[in-house]
Amino acid sequence: MSATHRIHPDREQGYPGDPVGAILWDDCERCAEQAIDPLGLDATKLRRAWDLMRAVETGAATRDGRRASYRTRNEGRLGRTLYVVYVINERLAR
Ligand SMILES: [Zn+2]
Repeated sequence: MSATHRIHPDREQGYPGDPVGAILWDDCERCAEQAIDPLGLDATKLRRAWDLMRAVETGAATRDGRRASYRTRNEGRLGRTLYVVYVINERLAR
């Protein structure tokens, strides 16, 4: 059984302090689940999360020249979950 998302800032009423545009938010049961089980993400969010993870974990600059960073704790958890998959894939591809 899946928990439900609380209201996020892309809807009408966000929690104060929620970064608009984050992939996952904090203090949300469903976002916390998806942070460690990313197969529940739709393809659009999964692609955004994968691109963010690669930018953060490899230290690549974003298009505006800044260093990418995770904007919420759950985004960081998701990024580390995806990074494990990324490293395993790189090692097995050799
Ligand atoms: Zn949520």
